[in-house]
Amino acid sequence: MPDTMTPIDLRSDTVTRPTPAMREAMLRAEVGDDVYGEDPTVNALQARLSTELGFEAALFTPSGTQANLVALMAHCERGDEYLVGMDAHTYKFEGGGAAVLGSIQPQPIPHAPDGTLPLEAVEHVIKPVDPHFARTRLLCLENTWHGRVLPMGYLRDARELCDHHGLRLHLDGARLYNAAVALGVPAGAVTRHFDSVSVCLSKGLGAPVGSVLLGDREFIARAARWRKVCGGGMRQAGLLAAAALHALDHHVTRLADDHRRAAHLATQLAKLGFDATAHTNMVFVDVPVARQAALKAHLAMHGVVISTGYLPQVRLVMHLDIDDPGIARTLEAFGAFAR
Ligand SMILES: *Cc1c(COP(=O)(O)O)cnc(C)c1O
Repeated sequence: MPDTMTPIDLRSDTVTRPTPAMREAMLRAEVGDDVYGEDPTVNALQARLSTELGFEAALFTPSGTQANLVALMAHCERGDEYLVGMDAHTYKFEGGGAAVLGSIQPQPIPHAPDGTLPLEAVEHVIKPVDPHFARTRLLCLENTWHGRVLPMGYLRDARELCDHHGLRLHLDGARLYNAAVALGVPAGAVTRHFDSVSVCLSKGLGAPVGSVLLGDREFIARAARWRKVCGGGMRQAGLLAAAALHALDHHVTRLADDHRRAAHLATQLAKLGFDATAHTNMVFVDVPVARQAALKAHLAMHGVVISTGYLPQVRLVMHLDIDDPGIARTLEAFGAFAR
């Protein structure tokens, strides 16, 4: 790769680096010991998101994985069960943490193509109260899921089902703001049906580290205890919370640019003969697994970085560090590969 070329990293929206303005905000942050609840910037972040998303309390965590783990541990006890998508982050991509560390059994359910868990399928696996069975306690949804925005009506119906069966409802909202921006609604409109929500600041919002878990006061107190047990109690974490606050001030509405770029990239890839679909900030391109290594190497020569896996699709993710010229270069590189 010519060294005049900045790499265009489409692997994930986690790869963003803090902007100069964000670093300035981090430098200025007032800090204290957050394990004692004394970091004013962490407290400001938690208070702000509680208000914005409609919850009593919030907890800053080092990662989304930990926010989801302590949420599961605060909702469920040993021998309880959570219902979750078969391809959900909280089931498949968190190392089995709920089972390993929480003694909580997952009951996976296949996703519909739109990312929902069909509610008949959910209802079907709720266990009767009987010593033979784990106690079904919680339904976990993810929004966006692989870039897909869950329909608002579905969220309401899921809430009704949970109320009917005495279940609690958790949202893995790692990309909550992508969903809200795509729908054109305040983020609080997406979270209102949930008992708890986790939000990542370190994805498309561009903060270097951190997630926030939200819920009622008692739930957050239990989660804070589990966060400490998991080693997630941080001290002068206000440096990180300042980056998160900066991201919430400056990087939310611009998510629409990521969505626009993803849609444009998919349309243009289709013109080059690729089968490509965009969902919010992600583009999925059909590429046979056997061709993926060649594509990856070819793109790398053009300074475009992608990750490949075992699925016959590659995922291209838009974020803060991808601009229009970057999309143009990506299209040139794909075009050369197609020829
Ligand atoms: C990234 C992500 C998380 C949390 O990931 P961390 O890397 O642990 O912060 C959780 N859920 C989804 C859907 C994610 O994409």
